[in-house]
Amino acid sequence: MPDHTHPRLAPLQQTTVKYRPDDEVDFVIVGSGAAGGVVAKELSTAGFRVVVLEQGPWRTERDFVHDEIKIFQQSALSNDWNVSPTTFRKTEKDKAQKQPALVYARGVGGTSVHFSANFWRFKEIDFKEASVKGTLAGTGFADWPITYQDLEPYYTKVDWEVGVAGAPGPFDPPRSRPYPMPPHPPKSTGVLLERGAKKLGYKPFPAPMAIASKPFDGRSQCVQCGFCEGFGCEVRAKSSSLVSVIPKAVASGRCEIRPNSYARKIETDAKGRATGVKYFDADKKEAFQRAKAVVVCANGAETPRLLLNSASNLFPHGLANSSGVVGKYLMPNGAGLALGVFDHEVNGFKGIVATRVVWDLYELDPKLGLVGGGGFDYRFDATPIQFASDIGIPPKAPRWGKAYKRWIAQTYTRSVICFGHTTSLPVATNSISLDPTVKDAWGVPAIRMTYADHPQDLKLYKYFAQRSEELLHASGAAQTWQLPVDSQEFAVHLLGTCRMGNDPKTSVVDKYNRAHDVRNLFVVDGSSLVTSGRGQPTMTIQALAFRAGDNIAQFAKRREI
Ligand SMILES: Cc1cc2nc3c(=O)[nH]c(=O)nc-3n(C[C@H](O)[C@H](O)[C@H](O)COP(=O)(O)OP(=O)(O)OC[C@H]3O[C@@H](n4cnc5c(N)ncnc54)[C@H](O)[C@@H]3O)c2cc1C
Ligand code: SF4
Repeated sequence: MPDHTHPRLAPLQQTTVKYRPDDEVDFVIVGSGAAGGVVAKELSTAGFRVVVLEQGPWRTERDFVHDEIKIFQQSALSNDWNVSPTTFRKTEKDKAQKQPALVYARGVGGTSVHFSANFWRFKEIDFKEASVKGTLAGTGFADWPITYQDLEPYYTKVDWEVGVAGAPGPFDPPRSRPYPMPPHPPKSTGVLLERGAKKLGYKPFPAPMAIASKPFDGRSQCVQCGFCEGFGCEVRAKSSSLVSVIPKAVASGRCEIRPNSYARKIETDAKGRATGVKYFDADKKEAFQRAKAVVVCANGAETPRLLLNSASNLFPHGLANSSGVVGKYLMPNGAGLALGVFDHEVNGFKGIVATRVVWDLYELDPKLGLVGGGGFDYRFDATPIQFASDIGIPPKAPRWGKAYKRWIAQTYTRSVICFGHTTSLPVATNSISLDPTVKDAWGVPAIRMTYADHPQDLKLYKYFAQRSEELLHASGAAQTWQLPVDSQEFAVHLLGTCRMGNDPKTSVVDKYNRAHDVRNLFVVDGSSLVTSGRGQPTMTIQALAFRAGDNIAQFAKRREI
């Protein structure tokens, strides 16, 4: 296998302290992704003994090959639908069919390993939009129990401890410290976005990215390899949990990362306290890790699945689910997209995904009658196969034969996607639940996704597709078209399924990410989000994880768990 590893990067330590499963550690954390890595670092460096159960392997840069077939067609880094099947239905009345419904990365570092690293903070409005704009029929649109100001110090921790490059823009929320790294220089698509946006009176600015723009914390800066979205970074420039916080957890000498360990049930005692986690080891043998407290960080799809699979006599509807809200209010974020073909080469596939963004429509004019809002970037993140089979071809263009081949050959290097990232509303019937018949390769009930976009969201996506096309036109594209707006059947952002709130009747966790029903159980990942922002949720997921880690450590020190 070719060795892409940066010659000056020393191998990351994979030898950790080892605990015996019958050792009662302070915390067992399920999942080592964007949130789990942060919580592991915070708790272990605060002096606690921690075991992290991660179902996937512990990879190194040598595993991060530039092979599109392996990555996208053979799920080399992500959940494999052959062994972990999912089912999908639009409404609760339909029978769910087996089909790929969601994607996340399976391995130490989780989805932060292969994500695109657009790293937007949510803004003040995102935490209180329901009370500003009013509730909305057919949704569980609600305010958060915390404000932007509560989270700001933790956003800043993410900037500095995980590593974010950027520069304050005209719509940036208040920040207590500057970015630790300068923004990435504009690439071809960024220059085109600036051109079109300025013509339309918008104020484009540098995209905040969780990618090193200069050497940072012993890691290399980005070498603009272009194999970014969906791929692992072979030079440690992408600020994944794998290379930012997990090495610090390991260095604490108190955190065991246990890869290939698939949690199947959280056990509880007669008093309703969590006692540890039952899991399958690499040989598919069942084991049980005892712990004083459990933190679930398995993402917005796997976390509700694990809680529902942890039903018992005391918790017949699933653990921490007296509200019946576990799994509900799934929010995948929405999008309105347009494509443009330029007369000249753009070669947008090179480098990081996005370098400039437009946030002028983050909060929309109320006269439009739309809820939520969004932001734009220009990108070209389609591999040749994706381009040819999916998004690159305009409506009515030939899809077979010489004309089709000519189109692909002429336009791959000249195409640009304008991506309008938007809100998706929390709707109770949009959910993750257990499929009644389909099981995974370990015999555990599979994820069933039920999802239909709220009509307001579909209007919003259409609005953003129209604005996207206008932007491309203003940038000088010779041909533009909008991608059709359909209700989504596939989720990449997995949010909202164990929502945070003050009322145990309508939420799963409190404002400290502690389960209302189980005092020594915490849920810290994308599932606790109350609203979806305007896309790019991971900065907020990690800020919440730093905040939860801080509070959990204080509770533990005061013996309040
Ligand atoms: C292709 C792609 C591009 C993306 N680009 C962006 C972007 O540009 N910006 C952005 O903000 N977001 C992006 N996202 C979303 C982002 O990656 C997620 O929001 C984020 O990683 C979620 O963090 P998390 O901690 O909730 O879960 P994850 O990072 O998914 O971590 C969950 C971990 O738990 C493990 N796990 C799950 N179940 C179990 C179990 N039962 N036992 C043991 N371990 C388990 C998983 O293997 C995984 O490692 C992208 C996602 C994808 C798929
Ligand atoms: S584009 Fe930069 S951050 Fe992304 S994988 Fe390549 S080197 Fe890493």
